[in-house]
Amino acid sequence: MDLDRTDNPQSQTVLVVAAHPDDEALGCGGTIARHVECGDIVHIVFVAEGGNAARMNALNEFDKEIDQPNIQHAATEAAGTLGAEPPKFLGFPDNRLDGVDLLDIVQSVEAIFKDIKPSIVYTHHRGDLNIDHRRTHEAVLTACRPLPDVRIAAIYGFEVLSSTEWSLRGDSGQFAPNKFVDITSQLDKKISCLECYNSEMRPFPHPRSREAVQALATVRGTTAGLVAAEAFSVIREINYPGIWLKRC
Ligand SMILES: [Zn+2]
Repeated sequence: MDLDRTDNPQSQTVLVVAAHPDDEALGCGGTIARHVECGDIVHIVFVAEGGNAARMNALNEFDKEIDQPNIQHAATEAAGTLGAEPPKFLGFPDNRLDGVDLLDIVQSVEAIFKDIKPSIVYTHHRGDLNIDHRRTHEAVLTACRPLPDVRIAAIYGFEVLSSTEWSLRGDSGQFAPNKFVDITSQLDKKISCLECYNSEMRPFPHPRSREAVQALATVRGTTAGLVAAEAFSVIREINYPGIWLKRC
């Protein structure tokens, strides 16, 4: 599932670019834990401010007073449960990335890429209902342009419950996974990670509930003959000299 390099076969650098805190856990929490167990270094960056669900008050209106440091604290704790590096926050406005110049987002994301130099990138599926997810996908693809001095060997799109399946797109924008990662041994870690985001989780049968997360892992697992899995769409893979796919 991973990539290996001749200059450092023990460790690959992985970057997860998510729109909001909790997207990384829902989309690839088990896979992050698995990368870490394989000796890879995993960085996480959040493009927009978080607390989407927590911002909704009893009248279903946005509460502007949500405490961002608490969300960032939860995200840092969540990364710790998976063994990832402390996350970075770009701080763009929540649910309003369509009002920000794409170039501004791209430049911020590019600065992270130049600093971290990842070989493997995970980000949102392009067809999500949430506008921040789609904008993040677009910015990542622009930042990952395969120029001669760039060595990003793989980009994968993840699914986020309560956004990917809600887009209901009948065209080619529908999530159609073609990569499955066995997270049978990492599912407990994924659930523990999500418990850091209590304010974002909801009771069953909401899709962002513990039961729904487990159910999706089961469905994705059985699709691939596994007990539990996370599913991805392969956005691009490039076999650069000295970099090849590694199983772990
Ligand atoms: Zn999100």
